[in-house]
Amino acid sequence: MDKELAQKIVVCRVCKGELEFQEKEAICHSCKKSYPIKNGILIMLDKEE
Ligand SMILES: [Zn+2]
Repeated sequence: MDKELAQKIVVCRVCKGELEFQEKEAICHSCKKSYPIKNGILIMLDKEE
């Protein structure tokens, strides 16, 4: 419906929390996980820690 919706599709794989996009990574504030952003693409590895 609006432009905000597009960004909210991308959520944390661990807790489904909202991600905060920064220059080189996206951070989940709910579980403190961070995902690297390479060449403008969010890298979401499926590994478990
Ligand atoms: Zn999370």
